[in-house]
Amino acid sequence: KDFRNDVKPNWCPGCGDFSVQAAIQRAAANVGLEPENLAVISGIGCSGRISGYINSYGFHGIHGRALPIAQGVKMGNRDLTVIASGGDGDGFAIGMGHTIHAIRRNVNVTYIVMDNQIYGLTKGQTSPRSATGFKTKSTPEGSIEQAIAPMEMALTAGATFVAQSFSTDLKDLTALIEAGIQHDGFSLINVFSPCVTYNKVNTYDWFKENLTKLSDMEGYDSSNRELAMQTLMKHNGLVTGLIYQNTERKSYQELLKGYSEKPLAQADLTLDQAHFDKLVQEFI
Ligand code: SF4
Repeated sequence: KDFRNDVKPNWCPGCGDFSVQAAIQRAAANVGLEPENLAVISGIGCSGRISGYINSYGFHGIHGRALPIAQGVKMGNRDLTVIASGGDGDGFAIGMGHTIHAIRRNVNVTYIVMDNQIYGLTKGQTSPRSATGFKTKSTPEGSIEQAIAPMEMALTAGATFVAQSFSTDLKDLTALIEAGIQHDGFSLINVFSPCVTYNKVNTYDWFKENLTKLSDMEGYDSSNRELAMQTLMKHNGLVTGLIYQNTERKSYQELLKGYSEKPLAQADLTLDQAHFDKLVQEFI
């Protein structure tokens, strides 16, 4: 079960995305997948290249559109494990409409966001996750906007699996991705993944100083949504671990009446003449 391929990533040395790639590969192997059982769908951005760096089915989509493609792949072939991935600009700016509706729809897809709080591919502009006051070439006097809070947003949108990690915590990140894959419904995993080239504020050291592990908090209960929201607000979203999981709510596929027992991708879609004539009659 080798999810590595021969393509050499062209990420900058030290980019946090390397660990996310390794964690996906390890998690897929750990849950017993074969490369032909996995599809990795990505958007645009440095992190969007990840679909080409994993030995599986892959699709490098367009900006902000990883999730519609990923949901379509899952609905077309339920036998595939589907991972969508991209950056915070991809998922929380242009793609936010898709993110929020994928969350409430609860299709069985794992969405991994590489959150570096900047646009890296376009050489360093303020992203929806950049903090107020953050200086970049697009905000030379400091951003006057407020950063989006993706974990809080996910909780209010009805997410059934919300987690956060840091790219250097490879063991924890791998375990969270495994749990996300095994979750029956949509799972959102936000990964603090430093951009070493353009973000000189939110560095590895900055995250080490500012992140708190939920596993170190006595009495934390990831099935308690209210506690999850209170904890996020108290720590300004800077926590890592499984924030919330709801195992009661059914996935979209389970609720969809008439959803084929056999994956659509394997169904015989040949239309004989009699069937075709009948369909035409229905529309005349
Ligand atoms: Fe990673 Fe930033 Fe380099 Fe892009 S520009 S590959 S996000 S370090």
